Amino acid sequence: MAHPPIDWHARAREIRVDGRAVIEGERRDALNGETFACISPINGQSLGEIARGRQPDIDAAVASARAAFDDGRWAHKPPAVRKRLLQRFAEKILAAKDELALLETLDMGKPIQYALSVDVPSTARCIQWYAEATDKIYDEIAPTPRSALALITREPVGVVGVVVPWNYPMIMAAWKLGPALAAGNSVVLKPSEKSPLTALRLAELAVEAGIPPGVFNVVPGYGHEAGEALALHMQVDAIGFTGSTRTGRRMLEYAGRSNLKRVFNELGGKSAFVVFDDFSDIDRAAATVAGSMFFNQGESCNAPSRVLVHERVADAFVERVVAQAPKYQPADPLDATTVMGALVDDTQLRTVLGYIDAGQAEGARCAAGGRQARTASGGYYVEPTVFDGVTNQMKIAREEIFGPVMGVIRFRTEDEAIAIANDSSYGLQASVWSENINRAHRVARALRAGTVHVNQYDEDDITVPFGGYKQSGNGRDKSLHAFDKYTELKTTWLRID
Ligand code: NAD
Repeated sequence: MAHPPIDWHARAREIRVDGRAVIEGERRDALNGETFACISPINGQSLGEIARGRQPDIDAAVASARAAFDDGRWAHKPPAVRKRLLQRFAEKILAAKDELALLETLDMGKPIQYALSVDVPSTARCIQWYAEATDKIYDEIAPTPRSALALITREPVGVVGVVVPWNYPMIMAAWKLGPALAAGNSVVLKPSEKSPLTALRLAELAVEAGIPPGVFNVVPGYGHEAGEALALHMQVDAIGFTGSTRTGRRMLEYAGRSNLKRVFNELGGKSAFVVFDDFSDIDRAAATVAGSMFFNQGESCNAPSRVLVHERVADAFVERVVAQAPKYQPADPLDATTVMGALVDDTQLRTVLGYIDAGQAEGARCAAGGRQARTASGGYYVEPTVFDGVTNQMKIAREEIFGPVMGVIRFRTEDEAIAIANDSSYGLQASVWSENINRAHRVARALRAGTVHVNQYDEDDITVPFGGYKQSGNGRDKSLHAFDKYTELKTTWLRID
């Protein structure tokens, strides 16, 4: 029998938000009792109060994680036991899917249908995948002379500080938690002050799954308070950071000023989507760029925000992209059919509208959108926006907007397309659309980005690495390569007589 549709508004009215930290497996207020309001971008109203973690709270969480690591309650468990407990954690996440999806939507404004179909299952799958890897990775013996034996083993780095943004709060956390916990580390997670709710629930679910208290702690708070205290902490061995390039720079400074902890940065992007005139199905290319750009309100690090189109097909391409825009009109995120929700907060709304003004002032043509929407809701919505006639020197082509705004840049030759695509301080992702196999390979090789798609943009899987070149960061999330960030390589020499 089919289930009746869920009334998400009714559920939203009933939900009770708990904004206290989770340290040593327990809910705790901030030590000085301070809180800040958790504002829903859907309507600008408060969902409840969040503990305002500061250095003393971070000190308590790091002490808990340090003790958990040092006494081996997690790191020394047989890998098959860690696997089983992490699998249970993933099962708990799936069992709580409606609650987690609703918290995510209320907290950061994404459509409930995607919180349910993307964010929760991807989070669970990530934890599950690393759980499975736990007892399947072998160490190495080096091909040394016979007089000695050299073992190359991987050991957990110790206490990992995780700092994540608000655009995919659970998924970004899971990309760090999965490999860090599977490798035997203890974690202190500082979620974004704009979206702390699901991270706090994840920490409770981990304890319910049987992961020992202290192994995974969450301290909510502001970046310049809790985030800075975590990144400067002398007992934190590594930082797994996802966020802006500006904050990534700070993370490196904090490491330099403290204990030279390892810092792995997953940062911003300004990804190029390059369409050649030999690609015949421009309807599909246009639908793909619109879908990828406007998904998650354009608040995706890998959004294809610079669209490079050969001048011969540019007019037809822009016409088709503009025709896609009405599908992505913002609507109520709690309505199960909505595809575009609210921007995360008023600050982000002002930032995005500021970039739209800048595009117009610099002479780009606004071919679709360009305005705030749903103002009567009290929330923060912007229309899907397409700029034509953009040059790569304009501010809207150089800076990450992190909203539903794409710019179309025209080119004449393959060399020019490559030069424009690579003329960016970022290098997270790119795509090339061509039916000429030689060109597709040539351009894919020439593009300086961590991921290059050919004739599609949507493929994504936990099995493949994700990360950037240049100022888009270092290190890689996802895949077995992520273990490189959360493990040390140890060499042990044994003499053989
Ligand atoms: P942000 O840098 O402002 O904040 C990210 C996190 O860092 C938050 O938890 C914040 O509280 C914390 N923080 C802020 N200032 C800090 C400081 N001085 N010290 C310590 N911590 C601090 O970024 P955001 O606005 O939350 O997220 C958007 C950015 O994230 C975009 O640039 C986007 O491209 C990037 N992002 C990258 C990836 C990737 O995988 N490369 C994925 C998602 C988002």
